[in-house]
Amino acid sequence: MNVVFLGPPGSGKGTMAERVSKRCSLAHISTGDMLRGEIKNGTELGALAKSYIDKGALVPDKVIIDMMVERFKQPDAEGGVLLDGFPRTVTQAEELDKIAQIDQCVNLIVDAEIIVDRVVSRRVCADCGTIHSVKTHEGNACTHCGGNLMTRPDDNEETVRERFRVYEEQTAPLIEYYSKKGIVTDVDATMPIEEEAAFICEALGEK
Ligand SMILES: [Zn+2]
Repeated sequence: MNVVFLGPPGSGKGTMAERVSKRCSLAHISTGDMLRGEIKNGTELGALAKSYIDKGALVPDKVIIDMMVERFKQPDAEGGVLLDGFPRTVTQAEELDKIAQIDQCVNLIVDAEIIVDRVVSRRVCADCGTIHSVKTHEGNACTHCGGNLMTRPDDNEETVRERFRVYEEQTAPLIEYYSKKGIVTDVDATMPIEEEAAFICEALGEK
């Protein structure tokens, strides 16, 4: 079974994708992680991707799709994959259909107000990167390593709202594309993490 995983920035998509892929024994394919890996390993593809990223441009579809074609040839993809960060557009979704059959689309839904509230109260440890919330955490020290907690520059209300707006605008046609195929499962992403992961795996038909 191949699954496309969608969710707005701040919805906890990466964490949930990781959890669901383990629980349902799917290979987690994160386009962001793959690109970072290619760049870090200094591959030809990594150099090409970096040349666009450095210019502040999007990596072209062709580059991403070629990378996906190769990724789907790897043995772990045979047992099914969970796609995180791809496709982003209907054109990419059409190309993906030529590579593999997509059986399910998980659509994480969170209200913009909840995401704003969550992100604005987020603090990140400068040393270990652990994320804390001022709502549940007192003081300015990381509970894991004692490091200083700080606010990421992008974690302000205006930026969060803009990211959310762009996401909705870009993703709406994609959700429509998969809705027409009758494979979209909407998920309330405000559930506790374990509950949400269990709900998604059950919806996918795998416990
Ligand atoms: Zn820390």
